[in-house]
Amino acid sequence: MPQRITGHTELIGLLATPIRHSKSPMMHNTAFEALGLDYAYLAFDIQPDQLADSVKGLKALGAKGWNVSMPYKTAIIPLLDEISEASRLCESVNTVINQDGRLYGTVTDGTGYMMSLRDCGFDVIGKKMTVLGCGGAATAICIQAALDGVKEISIFNASDAFFPRAEENARKIRENTGCIANAYPLEDKERLRAEIASSVLLANATNVGMGKLEGVSLITDKTMLRPDLICTDVIYTPEETAFLKLAREVGCPTMNGTGMVLYQGAEAFRLWTGKEMPVDAVKKVL
Ligand code: NAD
Repeated sequence: MPQRITGHTELIGLLATPIRHSKSPMMHNTAFEALGLDYAYLAFDIQPDQLADSVKGLKALGAKGWNVSMPYKTAIIPLLDEISEASRLCESVNTVINQDGRLYGTVTDGTGYMMSLRDCGFDVIGKKMTVLGCGGAATAICIQAALDGVKEISIFNASDAFFPRAEENARKIRENTGCIANAYPLEDKERLRAEIASSVLLANATNVGMGKLEGVSLITDKTMLRPDLICTDVIYTPEETAFLKLAREVGCPTMNGTGMVLYQGAEAFRLWTGKEMPVDAVKKVL
């Protein structure tokens, strides 16, 4: 719609590399159009040595805000004036709001996951969940779940280079929220079975199940699952991972990663515009 952009149109951006595959421009521009809001969302593929200049430039141009994706979610923090508690604990920012020249950063990935659970009618507040993984996605989920009032989180990760982060995430959650959190090696199958048995939700927050690991699941033993266990995956391509297929066969309610993508965007949209994203219109373009 060429006539949509005018001299008044406000800019919202996205800084990352690579980024041309991102669904965010389509999501946000669809939402602006649906609500008749005079904003345009553009993706900027920038190199690491351009990050500081890009932030300065967006600020100087009066951009309303921007998203940040890999590999800049942590690197952008020193360039901002203030960050949220979730960003401090995750050491990650995916959304910047330009408050009249003051740059406020927050992370909406975990909020997106929690909103997506609510959208599916799944309630974990005051209950226990088990999370597989401790990378970017898993950290955002665990920290937000703890901040939102989940009672206990058991984190499992392979004894790989990431494992110290699992312990660090559990420690941060214990020290900064009212949530109980512990980290365990994924190889300890009996502990995994016991923690799942006392949880209402099991989340795969690793990349196992997509790309070269499509068809692979960290859970292969159906007897670890039960029909009232909510099973979720952060992966959205494929729509049903091997883990979610196994869960469906057991009769578990399941949720893939599409809602997390949608609602992390919806939360950013609300922070920039003060309006709720028209998610039904946006779901059609995802
Ligand atoms: P990351 O690289 O930060 O973390 C990877 C995690 O996977 C680590 O915990 C690592 O130990 C684990 N892992 C990797 N290979 C493994 C293996 N063979 N066995 C056991 N564990 C293994 O990645 P990330 O940024 O956290 O992304 C993880 C997944 O989440 C990706 O598939 C990504 O596409 C998805 N993601 C989805 C959303 C969403 O909104 N739905 C958002 C962010 C990321």
